[in-house]
Amino acid sequence: MASKVKEIFVCRECGNESPRWEGQCRACNSWNSYEMSTHVSFGKSSKNSSKKSPKKLNDINILEQSRISTGIEELDRTLGGGLVAGQVILLGGTPGVGKSTLLLQLAGLFSQKVLYVSGEESESQIALRSNRLGISSDLISIISTNSIDDALIDIGQKLLIIDSIQVMESQEIPSRAGSVTQVRECAAKIVNSSKNNGYATIIVGHITKEGSIAGPKILEHMVDTVLYLEGDKSHLFRMLRVHKNRFGDDSEVGIFQMQSNGLCGVENPGKLLLGGEVSPKSGSATAIVLEGSRPLCIEIQALTTKTSFGYPKRAVSGFSLNRLQLLCAVIQKCLNINLIDQDVYVNVASGLNVKEPAVDLAVCAAIISSYKGVAIPRETAYFGEVGLTGEIRKVVASDRRIKEAKALGFTKILSPDNVKNIASVL
Ligand SMILES: [Zn+2]
Repeated sequence: MASKVKEIFVCRECGNESPRWEGQCRACNSWNSYEMSTHVSFGKSSKNSSKKSPKKLNDINILEQSRISTGIEELDRTLGGGLVAGQVILLGGTPGVGKSTLLLQLAGLFSQKVLYVSGEESESQIALRSNRLGISSDLISIISTNSIDDALIDIGQKLLIIDSIQVMESQEIPSRAGSVTQVRECAAKIVNSSKNNGYATIIVGHITKEGSIAGPKILEHMVDTVLYLEGDKSHLFRMLRVHKNRFGDDSEVGIFQMQSNGLCGVENPGKLLLGGEVSPKSGSATAIVLEGSRPLCIEIQALTTKTSFGYPKRAVSGFSLNRLQLLCAVIQKCLNINLIDQDVYVNVASGLNVKEPAVDLAVCAAIISSYKGVAIPRETAYFGEVGLTGEIRKVVASDRRIKEAKALGFTKILSPDNVKNIASVL
């Protein structure tokens, strides 16, 4: 293929191209995001030029995609039933969260041929890690390379794992690995090869400090499915969140627990996420939140103490700081509780990150409970969004939340159905 190389500038954030360097990207407005890159235009593409004609919607046969089980039940559920032939999945996560561990486990449990490409570890390092995780399978082949062309060989695999996209490079592109052009070109090659040969591919992408996958956003557009493995190195639980899925529900969440033999799916997360405390203490409330389609009961802890400096401190872990400040203001106004001279700390137990507004009521209950020194009985659980005037607003999937909480032994459930105002929360 004849190729021509031309110098251009590409935005690191959105992949926008410009013929010259600019301080601010015109497409996404991020500053100092242009990097020099090269544009490779290949000669005439050999795409087949058979004309396509539109079909009537009712005449189109729906092909039920046959799913290939990954061997990990929790992962299958998250993906909407398993892998689809030709599917390309991007798995993002901060370094050390357990992406490689999960993929190695997957390779070990997969019932068909797997090709594991690592640009970060040598073959023997991977073998050592497999040994530690108790994985041994005749179906896994390992190759340690940074060249995308070496990685995309066909050995009859039904699953290709690429760890990671940031270290892969194509010799045709004269820029370094991890640059926008490299990431984009390598991803294009992977998608092409995967679709043409009919194997599923999982690409690992590391996450930057800002929380997005290093490399252009364009990567997320090119793949079929985007998964993020979230969690804290120092905590037990990991959440596998779906951000995009062309073959299933994009709101699913898989919950895993880190154990010595790798990540294990948590079948009944409700119980595990609750604290082990038997006698109730003040400052702890149980929230029923929805993660994907599944309701979870999690413990919310709050601590209020007298401020020792002039300015009250607000700190959170696993919850939004802005949201806490707002809730503090609402509590102050509606309940006449003076939080001005109180430091308020809120912690979501087990290291989870809760973004759903339905957790508001439990956060307020925990804060009020800590402030008043009154413990909330163990059989009480909360869900509901708190409005600015202190009213409790309805949230989605009320029935499912109540059902889950009852199944876990909660007998008193405070929700928008029976609490109208934050003043009657405790
Ligand atoms: Zn941009």
